[in-house]
Amino acid sequence: MSKLVFFVLGSGSSGNSSLLRIKNNWVMIDCGFSMKQTKERMRTHNVQLDMVSDVVITHLDRDHFNPVWCRTFLQRGVRVHLHESHVARARSAGLDEACIVPFKNTFHLHGAQVEPVHVAHDALGTFSYIFDTGKTRFGLATDLGRVPQHLLDRFVNLDGVAFESNYDPSMQEMSNRPAALKSRIMDGGGHLSNEQSIAAICHIAAESNLQHIVLLHLSRQCNSTAIIRDLYRDNLAHLYNYVTMTSQDRCSRLLSIETSVASTI
Ligand SMILES: [Zn+2]
Repeated sequence: MSKLVFFVLGSGSSGNSSLLRIKNNWVMIDCGFSMKQTKERMRTHNVQLDMVSDVVITHLDRDHFNPVWCRTFLQRGVRVHLHESHVARARSAGLDEACIVPFKNTFHLHGAQVEPVHVAHDALGTFSYIFDTGKTRFGLATDLGRVPQHLLDRFVNLDGVAFESNYDPSMQEMSNRPAALKSRIMDGGGHLSNEQSIAAICHIAAESNLQHIVLLHLSRQCNSTAIIRDLYRDNLAHLYNYVTMTSQDRCSRLLSIETSVASTI
């Protein structure tokens, strides 16, 4: 079976983690929550920790990689896939060498091809991914300072996409956040505004056959689901029914990403 199953345990600046089922294997994407939170939320969709053999890391900020997991990964023999440029930081966060599976380019996971795409975010950057079973393609991108053309060039022929939609610019401007934090978020090396996100989704949707659009990393302080909903209704109304907005505090619904008609031709 080539379909993918995906759900988000939670997403935002206090923690990010998602699960993707490839064939019968659950792969964790980022591990930013405590073990207790993670286990509780996994239970929503009947997934247990011992069903996860691999973790794929976007980057090592604390909200995506909680070092509390290092010991558990070692004890359970979990493989942690991360880009070779992130290895030194993973080691210093306490991840044992035995768990680290570095990649440089495309790698394979349970028969699927995983294509990393490097994007700007703080000092080391972050990695977006395309998971491709050969029949079903799913892209995930979060914590991007901006959407580079090379990402759009790769995010094509997708059946589903999970994409950051971090903040509303006027809420950001009007917030009481320090000016340095505002500019770190908005200067092209931090996070994506709703407008930047929907512009990218419009582009991706035109080159894909999307069944699901999952919006990640919504700022609690500087975003609102009502603003995003209005933006989609005004700009991408025909796709609004495919949108799933994620939350920091609860698990998303379970999304099944099937092989689309277009990609089987
Ligand atoms: Zn983050």
